Amino acid sequence: MRTQRQVVDYSLQKRAVLRDLLAGRIGTYDVCDASPYLKNAARFHGEPTDQRCPICRSENLIHVHYIYGDELKQSAGQARTRAELPVLAMTLREFQVFVVEVCPGCDWNHLVEQFLLGRDGLAGGTEDAAEQETASGPTPRRRREAQR
Ligand SMILES: [Zn+2]
Repeated sequence: MRTQRQVVDYSLQKRAVLRDLLAGRIGTYDVCDASPYLKNAARFHGEPTDQRCPICRSENLIHVHYIYGDELKQSAGQARTRAELPVLAMTLREFQVFVVEVCPGCDWNHLVEQFLLGRDGLAGGTEDAAEQETASGPTPRRRREAQR
């Protein structure tokens, strides 16, 4: 997504959890604890992936996108489908997205990444955006959206 910024990747933490599990320092009971809310969110708003669950290896993981931010008002903390995010990103200035992976089989769940979305990430905002402009030049599509 174009306005995506401040990405924090949690794959190291996930690997640490899986190492602890393999070493017997924690049990599957500790990590396969998806709440009914999370499982519902996965069922209705989740994004299927082709990644196998690292615990049961019988189901593919589902990514759930949770959104947070003052501008969202009562929608803050809700799950949204991935397709809804670019639309929100053009409507709001800034909001936080947390991506959680869930296994529908064994209830494994873990934070995948977090990032910011929103119009504040468009041209003129961050240094990253300025760098991209000089590297590739503004495309017609970029220019049209910037005028809205
Ligand atoms: Zn599983």
